[in-house]
Amino acid sequence: MGKVLIIGAGGVASVAVHKCCQYPEVFEEICIASRTLSKCDALKQKLDGGKTKIQTAQVDADNTDEVVALIEKFKPDVVLNLALPYQDLTIMDACLATGVHYVDTANYEPKDVAKFEYKWQWAYRERFEKAGLIALLGSGFDPGVTGVFSAYAQKHHFDEIRQIDIVDANAGDHGLPFATNFNPEINIREVSAKGSYFENGKFIETDPMSIKRVYNLPEIGPKDIYLLHHEEMESLALNIKGIQKIRFWMTFSQSYLTHLKVLEDVGMTSIEPILFEGREIIPLQFLKAVLPDPATLAPRTKGKTNIGCIFQGVKDGKEKTYYLYNVCDHQACYREVGSQAISYTTGVPAMIGTAMILTGKWNTPGVHNIEEFDPDPFMDMLNRFGLPWQESFQPELID
Ligand code: NDP
Repeated sequence: MGKVLIIGAGGVASVAVHKCCQYPEVFEEICIASRTLSKCDALKQKLDGGKTKIQTAQVDADNTDEVVALIEKFKPDVVLNLALPYQDLTIMDACLATGVHYVDTANYEPKDVAKFEYKWQWAYRERFEKAGLIALLGSGFDPGVTGVFSAYAQKHHFDEIRQIDIVDANAGDHGLPFATNFNPEINIREVSAKGSYFENGKFIETDPMSIKRVYNLPEIGPKDIYLLHHEEMESLALNIKGIQKIRFWMTFSQSYLTHLKVLEDVGMTSIEPILFEGREIIPLQFLKAVLPDPATLAPRTKGKTNIGCIFQGVKDGKEKTYYLYNVCDHQACYREVGSQAISYTTGVPAMIGTAMILTGKWNTPGVHNIEEFDPDPFMDMLNRFGLPWQESFQPELID
């Protein structure tokens, strides 16, 4: 049915490529392109020989002209951006220049400020609309499935959703004192930034990790959860009608937080350049280089993730609560595709969002967040492609 150019060959891309190859009726041909060609070739070698034809290419996606040249050569229908958030705008520019749809999993971030906002990508709305192209923003798990869950709850279970609590729990244990479960630089920028939540039409900022609760998650048990800022709150605040409050919670162990605090206190998480032996380096990038590559954690990570949304609102004049979540087992992911659950829970929805566009199920041109589309075909594919969802009508609530 179609051709997809996948940019990036890291943890998430590896899962997405496996999943595209499990759906060759839609993904007839893919090209895996990244900065380091050998990583693309290694993925091709692992998966070649099936029905999906695989090519590889080297590209620096910071350079729009290079991406344009690659698109013109491979002629994809969609570009799936699984590089880093820094490359979102250059790749969107290349898609506009060549008339190709765009999908990503994380909002654009400038390298020099850890800001998580959609404003830069939303500024492309008119250009994509005029070109008759779709840019699907945030097709991972969070953002991604959390937006699809919200659209599904809105469509099938509520007249009005008043509150959403997104809870992202990772009860996986890799046995190492400190490691991040996706790209360390992006992960540490996210967790060391100020927290925030949405209430009554505005965002309220909080100090990092200053709000903590304990939540008893299905199949995982009670965990410490901390309030963070997370990008999907910005779009859900606009797209879920009548919404009054949105919070995002993530689990962290005490050991992770203690390590992070020490690293912060000594300046290792800073993104301000410093001079080291005569050249400028960014401490956080240096830290990334000494931390384990998240992909190498896959064989040793045991346990489960549970990510979902707790909804409170009104249906037929009555108060209603509803919880939608997915539980994913690290070792099951490793057996299936050689990755841990964090990459898996992002790579599967990245493939599904791309399939929605390739199959024409989602076809409204413009720059869209995922909750703007019909959630039903996406929810079906989650069940078919390894992320089955569960629901509860009497969830424990977070005060
Ligand atoms: P990795 O660091 O494992 O992989 C990133 C890949 O992008 C690498 O192959 C890297 O190449 C490549 N890359 C980086 N810069 C460039 C460039 N300028 N040109 C071409 N390729 C480049 O990251 P992950 O796979 O863990 O994460 C991928 C994306 O997924 C990130 O944007 C992350 O924020 C997002 N994410 C989203 C989640 C969600 O639920 N929505 C959850 C987890 C992650 P090289 O190997 O040379 O460094």
